[in-house]
Amino acid sequence: MRKVDTLIFDKTGTLTTGEFGLSRIVPTSDHSEEDLLKMAASLESRSEHPIATGILKKVREKDLSISEAKNIENLTGKGITGKWNGKTLHIVSPGYLKENDMELPDDAFQDKSETVVFLLEEGRLLGYFALSDQLREESLEAVKTLKDKDIEVLMATGDNERVAGAVAKKLGLDGYFAEVLPEEKQEIIRDLQQKKKWVAMTGDGVNDAPALAQAQIGIAVGSGTDVAAETADIILVNSNPKDIAKLILFGTITHRKIIQNLIWAAGYNVIAIPLAAGVLSRWGVTISPALGAVLMSLSTVIVAINAQWLKKQLAEL
Ligand code: ADP
Ligand code: MG
Repeated sequence: MRKVDTLIFDKTGTLTTGEFGLSRIVPTSDHSEEDLLKMAASLESRSEHPIATGILKKVREKDLSISEAKNIENLTGKGITGKWNGKTLHIVSPGYLKENDMELPDDAFQDKSETVVFLLEEGRLLGYFALSDQLREESLEAVKTLKDKDIEVLMATGDNERVAGAVAKKLGLDGYFAEVLPEEKQEIIRDLQQKKKWVAMTGDGVNDAPALAQAQIGIAVGSGTDVAAETADIILVNSNPKDIAKLILFGTITHRKIIQNLIWAAGYNVIAIPLAAGVLSRWGVTISPALGAVLMSLSTVIVAINAQWLKKQLAEL
């Protein structure tokens, strides 16, 4: 923990609240917004992805009745697919469209902070959903605290480049990785480790398990799935970035105090005891037994005070 010099945050749910609100439903076909919403809900009805939660919230508000799709499958880091009314539906990331050489609608990215997902039927684009998530209040301060202590703060997210860039800029991050697939998160960490970095990383999803295992310190946060929790070194029940900052700094500060205290304690033994024993008496330097006793208690007192300071420093984080 004390050696950690690089922290990689996940974005959704940690630096942001992860509570997506559906801000726009845009048909690019002759389907109505409501049709699109029903189709999307048929795929997302059992998904725990924050995007799914955002879509389902809207469905509940509008009181739409939905029927669940069949053969639902997660496309890790890219979206979800299933069969509905005999047709294959997909809800996918912009990256998925690019990979399949599909054109992205011009107006899809008018707002940088929106996360956009696309609805396909039999591989044809029917429309898209724009959702927005908010930065958590504590994020800015947490990033600043860590940077002040010379810890490099990075972010890795499956979300698109634009959203990631906007978040990174607002928070003053040292860098970010966008549109990363789960196995790529692991590679990013491995690369940093090869550059002799000590990496801590936060994650919540099943997806994040390999990366959490790869990091020197893996921190499973929030409602983290069981898989993430099992591979992690540390589990935090909330995903407050301030607590994560404290956790990392707790390690570094505690270690520093332990070393300081050892030096104080050893200092007494190394210097005062030989003096008291008369090693330098030839040159007229001695410690009377009385002074020796005072120094001895003093070293204990200093160690105790120093330990108290630790408590104070941690409280101030
Ligand atoms: P992260 O946890 O870093 O945000 P994920 O790997 O969970 O990334 O998702 C990456 C991207 O894949 C999302 O931004 C979204 O575009 C798409 N995606 C994944 N799962 C779903 C889902 N259930 N519904 C819609 N889009 C999804
Ligand atoms: Mg995730």
